[in-house]
Amino acid sequence: MLNKIDHLGVAVKNLEASLEFYAESLGLGCTGEEIVPEQKVKVAFLPIGETSIELLEATDPDSPIAKFIEAKGEGVHHVAFRVDNLEEALAELKAKGVRLIDEKPRVGAHGARIAFIHPKASNGVLVELCERSE
Ligand code: ZN
Repeated sequence: MLNKIDHLGVAVKNLEASLEFYAESLGLGCTGEEIVPEQKVKVAFLPIGETSIELLEATDPDSPIAKFIEAKGEGVHHVAFRVDNLEEALAELKAKGVRLIDEKPRVGAHGARIAFIHPKASNGVLVELCERSE
């Protein structure tokens, strides 16, 4: 069902300031910034090998990222696994009784289709499933 780790999501207070570390100090290339209105976040992707780091900054005080930082501070927010068919993966997990946040795919950055598994189902780790057309 899962192919690889698509990306690691990191919640940050300030995307530009974070890019100084990830892009300049670590030397990762940034493929550009994008606002995802549905999730009230501004994101930047920094590919590394077969995966990427996704930096997420809240664009609104009631963004899930703002709430996460308020509760836990900046840091790793989610792990995203790549799947070929998101509907099938969700149906399979549902049949296995896994608690989901999203029962239906929604739109993520770069037009990916994404859905979240509830962190209570995965030892406190917020898991994103991600289907990309490319
Ligand atoms: Zn993500």
